[in-house]
Amino acid sequence: MDKLIYLDNNSTAKIDPFVLEAMMPFLTENYGNASSSHIMGIYSKKAIEEAKESVAKLLNAPPANIIFTSGATEAINFAFKGLMYSNDKKHIITLETEHSSVLDTCNFLEKIGYDITYIPVDKTGMIKVSDIIENIRKDTLLISVMFVNNETGVIQDIGKIGDICAEKGIYFLCDATQAVGKIPIVLSSLNVDFLAFSGHKFHGPKGIGGLFVSNKVQTITPLLHGGGQEKGLRSGTINTPAIIGLGKASEIANNSLQRNSAYILNLRDELEKGLLQVKDTFVNGNKINRIFNVSNICFPGIESQILMGQLKDIILSNGSACTSSVEEPSHVLKAMHLNDDEANSSIRFSISKFNTIEEIKYVVNSIKNTATKLQLIN
Ligand code: PMP
Repeated sequence: MDKLIYLDNNSTAKIDPFVLEAMMPFLTENYGNASSSHIMGIYSKKAIEEAKESVAKLLNAPPANIIFTSGATEAINFAFKGLMYSNDKKHIITLETEHSSVLDTCNFLEKIGYDITYIPVDKTGMIKVSDIIENIRKDTLLISVMFVNNETGVIQDIGKIGDICAEKGIYFLCDATQAVGKIPIVLSSLNVDFLAFSGHKFHGPKGIGGLFVSNKVQTITPLLHGGGQEKGLRSGTINTPAIIGLGKASEIANNSLQRNSAYILNLRDELEKGLLQVKDTFVNGNKINRIFNVSNICFPGIESQILMGQLKDIILSNGSACTSSVEEPSHVLKAMHLNDDEANSSIRFSISKFNTIEEIKYVVNSIKNTATKLQLIN
């Protein structure tokens, strides 16, 4: 193997060539500002409307309820802070295993007087929905729960949590960054008030994503003020090429959700079957409620940094890319009751439609050989 094998698709995924092709005209000849009334502007505006329709179709939501942002981080910040500016309630419930874009925002809100309840998870990464119910207060403004965990692939019961929020009159934000474009999402049958996503996680370009905002949300204050784009909710010149790419990625995903999931699941099964033959290894995360493209495996007694360092042609990660410059054990794995050593011995494999069975077989072989050698040294 002389080329790199990329198994870090939850950090970011390769742009689909058809996405790039769709974007190119908007990076070259069709560069008009979508807010301009001249012919180039009108052309861009129409293409953007079509892209929004593709995104809406993927989410089974009306296009009018989607606001384009620079990605999930901005979408999440917008939901939290937009609500904060327009409401008096000061209690928020979230999970210990959320992404840093949620946890860091909560951290900021705590500093300015908000009270945050962090719901713990069990060993498999699942919450007890009753824990959420028990922590609801009169002043609970928002409950924020991720759909699919970025490190383990664990899926929470979004339907049930949404129903509870609706019943109690609490806003519900779902960080669906690792779900959109991978599993079916039917917003028309879910009680979700805000749903955040990023295009680059499902083969769209980086720097584009969005926030679904339900009709139940009467007032929300924008994060960005200016030219009044996106119905005044997200000012700034519209990023036409990226939006066209997001639309194309949504269209492709929508047409291939089932095919991709079956194909990728087969690769994941092959990977786990092989790697679990290494002595003492185990999978982190719930076996049933887990997305098909992720496998987080603990190699006890072997530091993941050392193992990954020996695998020169395989691209992997041992935590969230957003925090991986920080040499701390994963907060997600720690919340799942792993000790520091186990957390530091775990590796995330995240697979995409662009991976092949030959790659997976090569990865299994390389890791089996390298891990066995490292176990002998230790
Ligand atoms: N939430 C989750 C679950 C993620 O995996 C990520 C990206 N790692 C984000 C939010 C933030 O997405 P972005 O960096 O595209 O804003």
